[in-house]
Amino acid sequence: MGKRFSSKELYELRNSIPIHVLIETQLGIPAKISEGVFRFLCPLCNEFQTAVNPKTNLSRCFRCEKNFNTIDMVMICHNTDFVDSVKYLQTILK
Ligand SMILES: [Zn+2]
Repeated sequence: MGKRFSSKELYELRNSIPIHVLIETQLGIPAKISEGVFRFLCPLCNEFQTAVNPKTNLSRCFRCEKNFNTIDMVMICHNTDFVDSVKYLQTILK
């Protein structure tokens, strides 16, 4: 079985869509600015103890102690597997 997506493709999908845009606009996750910090409702624990890092384009839940990239967020929110989540992100970028 060959690789389905190149590492370059996956890198682009993880970095081309700002994570806060994906969270709020594409995935429709409740989000707010609190004390100047973008926070979103963690899809795992349903708390706002979260933040995003624009430098790494990762979102983090401090309660779950987990980082999520764009592909992880889609997998969790849409309950889709890796391949389908990647395809979803590809349609956004087109
Ligand atoms: Zn959480």
